[in-house]
Amino acid sequence: MRIEATGLSLESREISRFCPSRLVASKLLFLAKEMAPQSSTTEVIHLVDDQNTNQNEQDLRLRKQSAANGEENQKQSVTKKEDQEVDENDLSTSTAPDTKAYQMTIVWPNVIKFAILHLIYFYSFFCLTSVSYQTLWFTFACYVYGGLGITAGAHRLWTHRSYKARLPLRIFLAIGNCLAMENSIYIWSRDHRVHHKYSETDADPHNAKRGFFFAHIGWLLVRKHPDVINKGGKLDMSDLKNEKLVMFQDKYYIPMALSICIFIPTLIPWYFWGESLWLSYVMAVFRYCSILNATWLVNSAAHMWGGHPYDVNISPAENRFVSFFSQGEGFHNYHHTFPHDYSTSEWRYSLNFTTLFIDMMAWCGQAYDRRSISREVVEARMARTGSGAIKH
Ligand SMILES: [Zn+2]
Ligand SMILES: [Zn+2]
Repeated sequence: MRIEATGLSLESREISRFCPSRLVASKLLFLAKEMAPQSSTTEVIHLVDDQNTNQNEQDLRLRKQSAANGEENQKQSVTKKEDQEVDENDLSTSTAPDTKAYQMTIVWPNVIKFAILHLIYFYSFFCLTSVSYQTLWFTFACYVYGGLGITAGAHRLWTHRSYKARLPLRIFLAIGNCLAMENSIYIWSRDHRVHHKYSETDADPHNAKRGFFFAHIGWLLVRKHPDVINKGGKLDMSDLKNEKLVMFQDKYYIPMALSICIFIPTLIPWYFWGESLWLSYVMAVFRYCSILNATWLVNSAAHMWGGHPYDVNISPAENRFVSFFSQGEGFHNYHHTFPHDYSTSEWRYSLNFTTLFIDMMAWCGQAYDRRSISREVVEARMARTGSGAIKH
């Protein structure tokens, strides 16, 4: 019921019309007049309400008028807000390691180190005819031993746990791993586990999608991609952390590796059969760089060239050339399909000295629990994902 003064006369007439008794009507009219002063406050309230209503209506009109371009404005404001958020993200990512913020940073000390090393390596080819046959045999023996430190040791034993080894064999392989000097067992295994888990993504340390040079050596000349660090840090490395020999080798790696890889192999030919110190040193570098490049070929060439009889959906390929130099690690399509097979191949000793070595160690009781994939499983996988090509 409206009782404000402005609507009084009308309401009194309405009241008198609907009330049967004039007396009652007049009393109601009186009461209404008595209440009139109070209604001024109410009126103000209503006026305010009206003003608010008008304001609201005006706002509504304005909103309706701006409806056409309102959405556009809203979109613009949202876009601006998103831009601001993006800017804020950019600012935040400029300090935090993030894929968007990644810029390849060259590690110049590594570039210089590997450049000098490979200059000596190329020079060493010209010295091959000048060294004694003892030095040649010694260099070859060190090549095989250092290679086994990677293939039978860091790779098949410590990274993939594809067989088990007793302490004497593990010590032998840990020394061989120092002879190869490709980072400690712990670091090598961590990098390789990341490589298998995130193969050919940014989290792969030597992502072959970034080209042959990067997969071969380039990845060692630049800072690691943040994904390699982030995802590599989340891997379970507890088995290696709990192995005292591995952590001992990691702790004293630099002096041990320099001694076993360079200093001692330089002194042995000089001391035992009178080779010149310079040639002994050059042959040590020759053997070191040969093992490095054989290993790197697995990351580069064996990820690019060769057949895919086991899985056509992955890049790693069967590459016999790489197997020849890497003592059996070039059967890479098989290995990435069945990484826990201790042989990394279904062809036993064919171009695979590492498998022969592990079997010999098993024969004399040093290696055991060799894991392998049954012929049925291999053939089922080949039928499901393989290329259907003749394999070997
Ligand atoms: Zn690989
Ligand atoms: Zn592997």
